[in-house]
Order: sequence, then C-alpha cells, then structure tokens
Amino acid sequence: MPNKILFYSTNHNAPKVPFKDALLKGQAPDKGLYMPETIPRFTTEEIREFSNLPYHKIAYKVAEKFLFGQISSQVLSTITKDSYNFEVPLENVYERKYVMRLDQGPTASFKDFAARMMGRQMQNFLKEEKRELLILTATSGDTGSAIANAFYKLDNIKVVVLFPEDEVTARQRKQMTTLGENIQILGLKAKFDDCQSLVKQAFADPELDYLKLSSANSINIGRLIPQIVYYFYAFAKLSSGDPEEKVIFSIPSGNFGDMMGGMLALRMGLPVKRFVIATNENDEFPRFVKTGEYNKIQPSRNCISSAMNVGHPSNLARFVDLYGGEMDENGIVSKMPDLEQIRKEIYTVSINDSQTEETIIKAYKKHGLLLEPHGSVGWAGLMNYLKNHKEFDTEEQLCISLETAHPAKFPEKIRQLLQFDPTLPPSLQGLEAKQEAFDKINNDYISFKKYLQDNY
Ligand SMILES: *Cc1c(COP(=O)(O)O)cnc(C)c1O
Repeated sequence: MPNKILFYSTNHNAPKVPFKDALLKGQAPDKGLYMPETIPRFTTEEIREFSNLPYHKIAYKVAEKFLFGQISSQVLSTITKDSYNFEVPLENVYERKYVMRLDQGPTASFKDFAARMMGRQMQNFLKEEKRELLILTATSGDTGSAIANAFYKLDNIKVVVLFPEDEVTARQRKQMTTLGENIQILGLKAKFDDCQSLVKQAFADPELDYLKLSSANSINIGRLIPQIVYYFYAFAKLSSGDPEEKVIFSIPSGNFGDMMGGMLALRMGLPVKRFVIATNENDEFPRFVKTGEYNKIQPSRNCISSAMNVGHPSNLARFVDLYGGEMDENGIVSKMPDLEQIRKEIYTVSINDSQTEETIIKAYKKHGLLLEPHGSVGWAGLMNYLKNHKEFDTEEQLCISLETAHPAKFPEKIRQLLQFDPTLPPSLQGLEAKQEAFDKINNDYISFKKYLQDNY
C-alpha cells in the first residue's frame, strides 16, 4: 500500500497536510492553494472497466485514489452514492461529437457535482471531531446556489453566501434565498470580484479566527477532486474501445476549477488529445498562454455567461503549479510555467457575447442542440478548434463539450434567441412561490466584518 497522499500549498510556505485539513481549511495559511503531492494513476485497463459502472461508483474510484487511508471505504461509498443520485446525460450532436450535460443536479449547474460531495465529506470529518465550521463563499450565481443547496440542513456547518445583486438572475437568487435554516444570504451592490475580495479579507483577519471560517469556493481541494470524475465517466462511456483513442474535451471556464479537474484527469492517465479552454470576453488566460504575460482584468467584463465573468481566476495558481511555475495569490508569476507544454495540451480561445448568441441559434437550428450561454461558449470553442485543426476534424474523432448549466436557468436569453421557453427541470419547479429572505450589506469590509461578528 502506498503512503497517504498529502497536500502542499502552491506558495510553498506552509506545512503539507492530510486531505481532511486541506478540506476544512480551504486555503493554505500562506494563502496558496492545496495540491496533491503525488497524482495517482489509473491503468488503461482500470479506465476501460469504468464503462460498466454507474456514475457514483466511478466517483468512488477516483476519490479513493486520493483519500485512501484518510476515510473509510464504507463512508466514502455512502457519500458518493448520496451525492450522485441524478443522471449525467451524454447527448450526441453529430458524428462522434457530444455534449455532456452536467445540469441535472438540484440547482441545475455543474457546481452541484463538487458541492454535494464536498459538503458531505466536511460533515463527516466535523462530526468525527465534534466541531463546527462557518463557510463563507462569494458567488457570481451558480456557486452560491450549489453550495447553499448542498449544505442545506447538514450538521455542524453554517453557510454565508455573498452575491452581487445585479449580476445574478432572479432564479439563481431564489435558489439561494428560499432555503433558510443554516444558510444565510447577503446581497451587495457590487461586482463578483468585490464579493470575493471581502471573503478573502475575512479569511485573513485574525479577529475572526474564532468563527472557524472555511471556504467552499472553487479553491477548496474538496471541490476539485469531484470535478475529475466526469471526464473519466464521459470517456469510458463513449470510447470506441480502440486502445489508441484520444478524446478532445471543451470546457467553458471562469475560475478554472472545472478545467483543473480535467488537467488532473489527464495526469491520472485519461487519454486526452487536447483540452479546449473557452472563456468569454474575460480573456486574461488565452492572452497569458499566447504571450506568457499575465494581466488580470479589473474590473471583470460583464458577459452573458455571467458565471464566467472572472478577471483573475482563483484556480490559476494551481494550473501554473502543475506546469512547474509559481504564481501567488495576487497573480504575480515568480516562476514561469512550461508554456510549450501548456500549448501542447490545451488550446484556449475567447468567445465574445455575439459569438455566444450566434452559437446558441446555430446549434439549435442545425443540430437541435439546446445550449445556454456557458455551454455555448464551450461549444463555440470546440467548433473554433476543429475549424483551425482540420487534421482532427474527422468523423471518428471523439469530442465532448461540457454544458455547465440548464438552459431553463436563462429563460430570457433563450426566448430572445430561439423564441420559446425551455422546459424547467423538476429541480427548478416551484421556486416562484417560495418566500425569499436575504440581508443587504454595503460593499466595504468594515460592514461585512460587523455583520459576521453580530450574527455569529
Ligand atoms: C462556475 C461556472 C462555470 C465556470 O466554471 P469554473 O470552474 O469556475 O471555470 C461555467 N459555467 C457555469 C454555468 C458555472 O456555474
């Protein structure tokens, strides 16, 4: 049996810790992000065997590789089974081009995958230690509702979610503000980046140590591991069986948590030809890969794929680390990653709002494929890649683009572009009638801190 996997900080100035500590802390004390010290691997044979397994069993196998010796197999099996009690459709579009719909969870966004498993893991460890945590998280829409729903009524955990009032849809807001119990929602007249900055200040404030704060944002390693799973799942289910086959994934990206899941899957042995990393007009990452120069976008640009309006992706330090570089929490690169290797493994492209809208119309008219703005950025990215790489634009090439939210979460956009109302999935029905409750605070740290001190 190999040794337990420990987790180090990307800033290299904090002790290595076991999974439990990385999970409960969120961010490392030196403000870096936790990464696994070794990346476990699957054999080709093991990956092939996934094709017969239900999703939750694949989730178990992936998580077990990282967590063995740190959580009992029975507990892990219960957690994965409870977390993944919904479908993960793989929709054929044309030839061997697919869309993986990660929108069937309780809040109809892909963030349910990570949040549900992380919440249950946290609850398990907190109960073991007989202690409590306060989760602080900033959301540009989907994280907040996924976290709020995933943690709703879990024991030993309270949650505070900050959201920019003008950047989330009414439905996204209602998915958070109609819960109550252990979930508190705070609205701000500010941008997502401002909300995220308040949360970061609270974490760094020693006067709030007594609150036992933890983050559930995409920087938490507990969210990253579950995001590896669907890449294995999709490949195993769709692979032709040819041992030489390699898949192309396209990932609509904002904070790059989803993409990091894919990158780790690749390191674990998944045969990926290319990752297409598609952003909206917040194109700091494509420019970085192209030029080697990193410049944040402040404030971030407001695009219709609102959950990807990120001017400085919180997972970027992990990505840089994976390629041998170093980037601190402010985006300062002290050591360049291997750009040549990056360009071999990923192709990255920025898709603007009008391309996003055109793609929604075209995909529907041409293929009957219904996309919302985020999934449209992913699909447009894939089409762009294939157009520029004719050698891979073949009938046999397996390509899988990720749809990260349900189209019914963006009814105004779909109605405007396609002139119909997408059908609501069962998880989103009945929201209108529920009572909303949330507090408002000013966009300054003093108000936020006082709110926390007065209420917790
Ligand atoms: C969060 C989100 C994304 C971006 O995911 P990252 O992991 O932050 O890159 C894309 N689409 C939707 C619908 C999201 O909610």
